[in-house]
Amino acid sequence: MQLDEILKKTRQLATEVLSVEAALVDKEAVWPEKSIRSLLDAGMGGMMAPKETGGHGHGLFALARVAETLGEACASTGLCFGMHCVGTAVIAAKATDWQKEKYLVPISQGAHLTTLAVSEPGTGSHFYYPQTQLLPLSDNEFCIKGKKSFITNGEHADSYVISTVAVDPDADPNLFSCIVVDKKTDGLVWGPKWQGMGMRGNSSRGLDIQSARVPASQLLGEQGDQLWYIFNVVAPFFLTAMAGTYLGIAQAAFNEARDHLQRRNYAHSGAGLSQVHVLQHKLGSLWAKIERTRRLIYFAAQEGDADNFKALPALLSAKAEVANCAVEAVNEAMTLSGGIAYRENSRFDVLLRDARAAHIMSPTTDLLYTWLGRALLDQPILSD
Ligand SMILES: Cc1cc2nc3c(=O)[nH]c(=O)nc-3n(C[C@H](O)[C@H](O)[C@H](O)COP(=O)(O)OP(=O)(O)OC[C@H]3O[C@@H](n4cnc5c(N)ncnc54)[C@H](O)[C@@H]3O)c2cc1C
Repeated sequence: MQLDEILKKTRQLATEVLSVEAALVDKEAVWPEKSIRSLLDAGMGGMMAPKETGGHGHGLFALARVAETLGEACASTGLCFGMHCVGTAVIAAKATDWQKEKYLVPISQGAHLTTLAVSEPGTGSHFYYPQTQLLPLSDNEFCIKGKKSFITNGEHADSYVISTVAVDPDADPNLFSCIVVDKKTDGLVWGPKWQGMGMRGNSSRGLDIQSARVPASQLLGEQGDQLWYIFNVVAPFFLTAMAGTYLGIAQAAFNEARDHLQRRNYAHSGAGLSQVHVLQHKLGSLWAKIERTRRLIYFAAQEGDADNFKALPALLSAKAEVANCAVEAVNEAMTLSGGIAYRENSRFDVLLRDARAAHIMSPTTDLLYTWLGRALLDQPILSD
């Protein structure tokens, strides 16, 4: 599917399914089953999978556009579908023929949902230093042991892209690797359900991996490739998926505020809020704030797709800037929309809670600006 067709379908599903489901997903904190299934049934599951496996072979720009549309309708769905796209891109980056057949073909058919399990309770926002252990049992099998936290899509995914460190006594202590683990693997014990204040449909959960035995054929790339994956695949795809989703939140807040200003007329004077100069000025500057962030995200994604040297600083700043933009835009739009916006379970109630996750999800805003500075100063990015 070409991007135009994908965007047309995404907009249709965002209106007909995601927007309808969004309030319930937030209220009940349930995984957005209908919304995710509608995307997979529409053939979108393989957006990041290569064409040779039946996928659409799209890159960062397509991901940004789709995530933006989903995020505007239901941010939880944007996050859940985004993590599937990131996981798919990681699997696809160095997939063997066997991995293409086992994972990428069903992903392209909409029959398999994957997700990323890199964060750990021990290392928190420094997700690139996993402590989950990878021990070779033989040439054909590994044993995995450790704890992962906040896995979006939780037990709803069919597979998990997991980061690990080697525990072979002869191995380099910094030998980090990525491996894909099936949901049905023995030894996966889910932690209690995590209830976020926002992004309540993401079904994030902790996972205790208790000596799970996994075929060596599920190793992604070579042992020691994890940092390559983090910088070349996880970072660009994750930053783009999240930037798009949070941009969608900012846009949704803007739309609500504009509608309110256009609708609201006073009984005493007959004047409408759309005629008040200061409100016109505020709405104009809100539009500019969102639009310049959108252009940064599109630029970053296009530079990333073209593999240009400006991609790294642009991608780092895109997610940091959109976090500020989304939180500020929702706050400002809420003020413009008056008391009705402040009621419990209003659209702004959800948008404000969802937007706030942008600063917290790793790479966090603080880490992103620090990495950006290091990149611009030719300093090693992961120096802490
Ligand atoms: C809604 C949601 C969904 C998530 N989904 C996933 C997922 O699907 N998969 C996954 O693997 N993870 C996921 N995560 C985890 C997430 O990406 C982060 O890794 C995690 O929230 C941060 O870890 P922590 O809470 O231990 O923060 P901490 O590590 O305790 O950090 C606390 C604060 O300290 C700051 N900080 C720490 N060190 C530095 C430093 N050197 N310089 C400046 N600031 C610093 C951080 O930026 C942060 O603001 C999710 C999180 C959320 C909230």
